[in-house]
Amino acid sequence: LLHAQLQELRGPIRVFCRVKPFTNKNYVSYPEAKLQENYLRTITIEKDGIAQTFTFDRVFRESTTQNEIFEEIIPFLQSAIDGEHVSIFSYGQTGSGKTYTLEGSDFEENAGILPRAASWIYKYLEKCGVQSSLQIKLSCIEVYMEQVTDLLSDHYNVLKLKANSKGSLEVEGISWHQAESFEGLLRLIGIASNGRMTRSTHLNNGSSRGHTIYQIRIEGLTMYGNEIKGKLSVIDLAGSERANVESYSDKSQNEIEAMKVILSEAKYINTSLSCLRRVILALLARRSGNSQIPPYRESKLTRLLQDSLNSGKVVMLVAISPDNFSETRESLKFGGQAQ
Ligand code: ADP
Ligand code: MG
Repeated sequence: LLHAQLQELRGPIRVFCRVKPFTNKNYVSYPEAKLQENYLRTITIEKDGIAQTFTFDRVFRESTTQNEIFEEIIPFLQSAIDGEHVSIFSYGQTGSGKTYTLEGSDFEENAGILPRAASWIYKYLEKCGVQSSLQIKLSCIEVYMEQVTDLLSDHYNVLKLKANSKGSLEVEGISWHQAESFEGLLRLIGIASNGRMTRSTHLNNGSSRGHTIYQIRIEGLTMYGNEIKGKLSVIDLAGSERANVESYSDKSQNEIEAMKVILSEAKYINTSLSCLRRVILALLARRSGNSQIPPYRESKLTRLLQDSLNSGKVVMLVAISPDNFSETRESLKFGGQAQ
């Protein structure tokens, strides 16, 4: 069977798990969640003699390189170039490696999926000789406490969602930036990523409290003159951990204000992530022939991505950091099938 045919047989949604290597920094608490075995598809966590096993489409253990993960993503990029909508999410607690996996920590060996995808797309189009007939554009928005802002705009504006004439939802006033080359696209990705950090400092919250959605549009004519409209969405989700306000103990006015912010952020994050989880579970249920209507309308994140999720291809990367047992178990319970 050809690789492409195999992909088709496995359906349009894939759930991967990536285990973050433990560094010296968190070595002390490791191994709170003891991981067993090294199979390609299962992961077992153990605590107090009780073991639980979860199955994924693929488990990437600690030693997996950025390039090895990217290799698994290439068939999905191929789909986006063929005109499909592809969404790649990273899900997990803060510090589990979501941003590292998607963006990376540099533009070289540690580059994540997004810059690698940018490079791959241009190389591929060049190879096919269709680069000049296609336009590649990038947008980047953040959904923070159910408010949408544009990370590639000079102004800090809250944007509204609006249905277009075809009935699909659009972000009113979102900026799309055309990139003529790989370097241009990389530069735009860098600007968006910096905007994210500056903004999060400005708002005095960690960048992990909002969902960041990068979208790359590939539009134009193929070699045979057919029109294509592919879209790649890369979504760095807010941390899935439960809010922790235990450290706020002396209840000064400042601390009370900080606590209020943390709790209301957590409320929004819980609502949108739980909606996303239900959408993903409904899409996964389709694999086994159960038709369910995913509850897209219950959060901005899923409304924004409804078109792509409903008819496109989806990769959910569950990032885990085994220094925290209960958060690791929660993430595995969502993305993995318990045995
Ligand atoms: P998150 O986005 O989930 O909050 P990050 O991606 O920022 O987490 O990861 C936290 C830290 O761990 C960062 O310094 C990141 O570079 C590092 N890190 C995460 N995953 C890996 C990995 N697989 N290999 C090496 N370093 C990693
Ligand atoms: Mg992050």
